[in-house]
Amino acid sequence: MNINDLTLPLKGSCHCGNVKFEVNTKLKDLRRCNCSICSRKGFVMSTASSDELKIISGETYLNKYQWNTEIAEHYFCSKCGINTHHKRRSDPKQYGYNIACIEGFEMSWIKDAPYVDNTKMSIIKK
Ligand SMILES: [Zn+2]
Repeated sequence: MNINDLTLPLKGSCHCGNVKFEVNTKLKDLRRCNCSICSRKGFVMSTASSDELKIISGETYLNKYQWNTEIAEHYFCSKCGINTHHKRRSDPKQYGYNIACIEGFEMSWIKDAPYVDNTKMSIIKK
């Protein structure tokens, strides 16, 4: 098994299993980000367009966190606290999602996920 062997749709869930989602595109564009929120979350994210990621169940468990420009939407399970996905400020038609939530994914597949330097995304003066 490797990262390209997962069949579509990818199935994702939070830790407690209340939030379930599906992604209709391969794991791709893997990255970490060093903006003030992503560096605290610390997960490796993949990319899906807004019509490729669907919440299957547990939408009522999702809490949305917004800050600063309030363009990005950071979603996490209100029961277990796991960050599942977020709508990006850099492109609100895109989601970043937590690849560790994907069924069948193995952390050992990630040898060296690059990080994008988004320190400038951390704070915008209004
Ligand atoms: Zn949960």
